[in-house]
Amino acid sequence: MLAKVFSAAILGVEAYLVEVEVDISQGLPGFAIVGLPQGAVKESKERLRAAIRNAGFPFPLQKITANLAPADLKKEGSAFDLPLAVALLAAGGIVPQDQLSKYLFYGELSLDGKLKPVSGVLPVALLAQKKGLVLVCPEGNLPEASLAKDLRVLAVSHLKEAVLNLGQEKTSTLPQNTGAEETGPDLSEVVGQEHAKRALEIAAAGGHNLLFIGPPGAGKTMLAKRLPGILPPLTYEEALETSRIYSVLGLLDPQKPLLTRRPFRAPHHTISDAGLIGGGNPPRPGEISLAHHGVLFLDELPEFRRNALEALREPLEAGEITISRAQMSITYPARFLLLAAMNPCRCGYYGDRQRPCQCSPQEVRRYRQKLSGPLLDRIDLQVEVPAVDYKDLAGKAPQESSAQVKERVLQARKRQEERLGKGRTNSSLTPAEIEEHCPLGREERSLLERAARKLNLSARAYHRVLKIARTIADLSGETEIKGPHLLEALQYRALDLLSW
Ligand SMILES: [Zn+2]
Repeated sequence: MLAKVFSAAILGVEAYLVEVEVDISQGLPGFAIVGLPQGAVKESKERLRAAIRNAGFPFPLQKITANLAPADLKKEGSAFDLPLAVALLAAGGIVPQDQLSKYLFYGELSLDGKLKPVSGVLPVALLAQKKGLVLVCPEGNLPEASLAKDLRVLAVSHLKEAVLNLGQEKTSTLPQNTGAEETGPDLSEVVGQEHAKRALEIAAAGGHNLLFIGPPGAGKTMLAKRLPGILPPLTYEEALETSRIYSVLGLLDPQKPLLTRRPFRAPHHTISDAGLIGGGNPPRPGEISLAHHGVLFLDELPEFRRNALEALREPLEAGEITISRAQMSITYPARFLLLAAMNPCRCGYYGDRQRPCQCSPQEVRRYRQKLSGPLLDRIDLQVEVPAVDYKDLAGKAPQESSAQVKERVLQARKRQEERLGKGRTNSSLTPAEIEEHCPLGREERSLLERAARKLNLSARAYHRVLKIARTIADLSGETEIKGPHLLEALQYRALDLLSW
């Protein structure tokens, strides 16, 4: 007899419907699976035999052929155990077939027939929701599956339950923690560094990428960690998009599966290209995708491998990365705010007032040349973060909290959305839009042109100053860009100003 059930395979961060067919016919006893990678077939067969017997069902001693279609869709992982087992039992006449086509089965079996939680349940649940199918998944995956609103789901802990409880599915309810944002480290804990804090505020408000340049111990990392806390809260859709990436990698908290804070990813500079950008075999999303809708912090930027830095250009431009392979290409979302930090030179003390720099002029130049122009072109804000003299900090007034700064950020974002449309920020302005949305009065234009000549600004750098000035004006609630906005924007050009 022939039986057919639905399951799903994951490509990138999307799930696709897979048909699992099992045929049992007269003939020499045997078991063949078509459509799975060779290595996976053997293991899968072993688990199925043991799990079905240990669940108390007979394993048919006939000719069994299983097929997973479409054949060209690459299928990874062990989540086909459950659909294969159910189809096998249906083909053997143990499970009635009449209702099977309304279910999507996804889960790994252990030898005793228990169901083990698997990765990728969130995209699979979203697929089931879209197709109007009931998801049958391991009990441990229920909170994650429930993130798909109003999904019909049957969560089970054993193969026996999966078979006997069909028809007892329930409508999912959202897990408890959704929406409640956890608080992270607060800006008020950082004393001094007003210039760098202001740069964080502008970066958050206008979605601008930011580079901190300063000696070790100046607090660059401490400042960086506070950027997610002043960004607008994640919307449910954004949280779902980012959580889906973590789901594919099996990184979600089983009890609290929805990310409620914008991610902050800080990979070390020794990371592989695939680890940073995505790739490998089988392909997996990299750190830039784990930072989707959040912050990617690259400390010691010039120490990263040149290839990896070059590969950042595509996601910085497009908000996603495409990994090309011989038979297919996979696209992962990667829309992040880039926050980078570097020492002014290899030893770290170039230009420092307390400690002498050990580097020769050539060494200083070589260190900085590791950063290519095209990458720096995508970093609107470049800010010097000098060493703090702790004597200067005594008796400082109480510092502003992240909540206070975030309030201004939210107002500035609102103005940008009114002007540019939902979700857009000034960092994404095209040259034509800069003309339209950043008009200057006569005095302001002449001020900027004089500065541009003096600093030898390229056309791109000129545009960056205008975008930053637009964000500064938005932060102060003004419609027009005025002289003080331009003068402040010109200060965030440390790479030009440090006379390197
Ligand atoms: Zn040095």
